[in-house]
Amino acid sequence: MGSLEIIVAGAGPAGAVAARTLAAAGVRVTLIDKAEFPRNKPCGGGVSVRALRRFPWLTDAIAGIDVHHVSTLQLQGPDAAVMEMASPDPSIILIRRVEFDHALVRAAQAAGATLCERFETTHVGVDDTGVTLRARDGRQLRAPIVIAADGVHSVIAKRTGVNAAWPKRAIAIDMMEETPVETLRPTRPDVLWVSYGYRGLDGYAYIFPKAHHVNVGIGCLLSHYERSVDGHPYAMQSQFVSDLLVDGALHGTSDRRHFTPFLIPVGGPLPRTHHPSGRVLFAGDAGGFVNAFTAEGIYYAMISGELAAGAVAASQLSPSAGRAFDRSWRSEIGAELRDAVLIQRFLFADHTRMNRVVRAGRALPWLRELIVDYAAGRISYSQARRRVLAASPKTAAKLAWLMVRRQLAG
Ligand SMILES: Cc1cc2nc3c(=O)[nH]c(=O)nc-3n(C[C@H](O)[C@H](O)[C@H](O)COP(=O)(O)OP(=O)(O)OC[C@H]3O[C@@H](n4cnc5c(N)ncnc54)[C@H](O)[C@@H]3O)c2cc1C
Repeated sequence: MGSLEIIVAGAGPAGAVAARTLAAAGVRVTLIDKAEFPRNKPCGGGVSVRALRRFPWLTDAIAGIDVHHVSTLQLQGPDAAVMEMASPDPSIILIRRVEFDHALVRAAQAAGATLCERFETTHVGVDDTGVTLRARDGRQLRAPIVIAADGVHSVIAKRTGVNAAWPKRAIAIDMMEETPVETLRPTRPDVLWVSYGYRGLDGYAYIFPKAHHVNVGIGCLLSHYERSVDGHPYAMQSQFVSDLLVDGALHGTSDRRHFTPFLIPVGGPLPRTHHPSGRVLFAGDAGGFVNAFTAEGIYYAMISGELAAGAVAASQLSPSAGRAFDRSWRSEIGAELRDAVLIQRFLFADHTRMNRVVRAGRALPWLRELIVDYAAGRISYSQARRRVLAASPKTAAKLAWLMVRRQLAG
């Protein structure tokens, strides 16, 4: 495609996969990041195994890093009842982002992408022929199209007016530590534990066991945090760790040096994930590609990065890429991301609803199997959705009603 070059801004999972995809399609691509790799990203590091099916190259790309495979998931409801889902094969892998992201960047470089580190974008200009990015140190880069994968605080989304700020109800604050097991260790390193409404919390909590670390986190909508929580995020998280030590789920002590509160977009993708010019496409957190219910973002970052890159390559680097990207992500992940927002709002509005879900899961082996099969990628979201709705016409009616209400609310 001639001498034209594409810029991918942000080298997290969205950006690294976008750069890898473009390079593999023969497009010249520069992957910029404000950081130097390896760099950390506050994250639980849980990736559903379906990512390994969706990206067949991923297994080789992460072969050199610590990957902990987990086959047992526990979902705890607000009334402390637990639904346990075990499968013969792993359904989740747990990685450390400091290693995982570096491995993805190396995969992009191996495919031919050029990495440009310490390029912190501060200014963005879009005109009729392209996009100019200026870094804090004065360096400038220009390209006909930019894929913006610069995370939840996307400077590019702000500077281009595509997303001046997330609405408070579309953002969660996740307070988490990733601590070596010598200091803090899970009682059951073979189990991934997630709880909704733990000890009355309006949000979620989790213990993710890694190969040599444990991630312990607690999260809620930022609007709820600002309204109802006094004090520093670490005070809330360390209280949570103390409760888990008393409950016997953890041993050891919390270590504030490994504590990193960070934001997650949980309101679903932006209404339009490209700039009106068609020259800037937003992937990953920058575009809101996170499951609003599970807060899973790595998988969707990788998919949106790949689809954005695919649209750019297929459009011969023309502005029609913007609309093509919109169509492709809506077709592959639009339904699950939309439903996740509805499910989050429905279940978080009333703790008894989540209790009913956990009770249903305990009573229905097929439902537990379905969740694990979906996480492992053995069935697609649309197959899982069809089976749940066929088994429960009441749930189908409720979902339809929520969709209508959301539509009416604009
Ligand atoms: C505490 C916490 C726990 C989470 N746990 C999980 C989990 O267990 N599983 C899961 O799937 N998801 C989880 N998520 C969500 C997940 O971390 C994100 O959805 C995912 O990292 C998004 O990837 P990304 O590539 O879009 O952005 P990021 O990973 O944030 O990468 C963005 C990149 O852009 C760079 N950048 C930012 N600004 C600039 C700039 N101005 N100029 C140049 N470069 C810039 C950054 O340095 C970074 O490298 C969690 C999130 C949080 C906060």
